[in-house]
Amino acid sequence: MDTPLARELADLSSRRKALSKVDVRFDDESRIFTVSNQKGGVGKTTTAVNLASALADIGAKVLVIDLDPQGNASTALGVTHSADTVSIYDVLINDVPFADIVQESPESPNLLCAPSTIHLAGAEIELVSQVAREFRLRRALELYLKDYAVDFVIIDCPPSLGLLTINAFTAASEVLIPIQCEYYALEGLSQLLGSIQMIQKHLNPELHLSTILLTMYDARTRLAQQVADEVRTHFPEQVLESVIPRSVRVSEAPSFGQSVIAYDGTSAGAIAYREAAVEIAQRGQRTAHEQGA
Ligand code: ATP
Ligand code: MG
Repeated sequence: MDTPLARELADLSSRRKALSKVDVRFDDESRIFTVSNQKGGVGKTTTAVNLASALADIGAKVLVIDLDPQGNASTALGVTHSADTVSIYDVLINDVPFADIVQESPESPNLLCAPSTIHLAGAEIELVSQVAREFRLRRALELYLKDYAVDFVIIDCPPSLGLLTINAFTAASEVLIPIQCEYYALEGLSQLLGSIQMIQKHLNPELHLSTILLTMYDARTRLAQQVADEVRTHFPEQVLESVIPRSVRVSEAPSFGQSVIAYDGTSAGAIAYREAAVEIAQRGQRTAHEQGA
């Protein structure tokens, strides 16, 4: 029967088939992303967790760093993060090595998480008086990556531009901005771009906006299409072809301590995140190839 639902299912199944055929290789060096947007609720955590899970699913070793005191990424990855868990707070403030806090997600041995706890809420203030306060995360992560092979590090940032986010910006080389396909989507973006430029100039010359992912896309509204077109016009190089649809499965998954990939791997949201992951991995290879590496 040719109904919209039947068409959608056929489309999903052909996209799934296409995904099962892709063979992705990963660069020798770790790629370090920070998922940032000072706007709240635009899909940063959802994107960090699901991209990480999708990358792990295609064979990458992935470390998610939960840098948000809310601890939503830790919850979604099913790792322990109660008040007495040694966490990213201890790395930043108490010089605890990364290796001591990293936990494996029950989802996959390829998927690691450096959890956040409620103590991180105080870190924003405590960092102020620390030596090299902007580089605490970078230093600790560099030491960890000397001993552990990780293909992707994905840092989930809080919705602010404080010292925690600055630590993420100095530790990463790529910024991934999720943009919600809704009204006011671009509001605040110029402030974010300005911050990235400031960091580039003063703290981390390697940092660049490599990736924009359109999220919570509702194909039924003209507005979503308009926002998507506008973002693509401004950032033709950075916006991924893959777009994440608004989907109940995506929003339900965290309450089961799972990514949408584990919760319902054949849903539209899971497939979209898997496509985005493949695109990101392939873009890395393209860049390496262009540079003659
Ligand atoms: P914060 O700024 O508070 O850290 P955030 O930017 O990390 O927020 P999320 O927590 O990822 O945003 O998402 C905000 C809300 O939107 C959550 O309830 C999440 O489940 C929901 N959400 C995110 N992406 C989707 C999607 N594709 N479809 C449906 N709901 C979604
Ligand atoms: Mg979040």
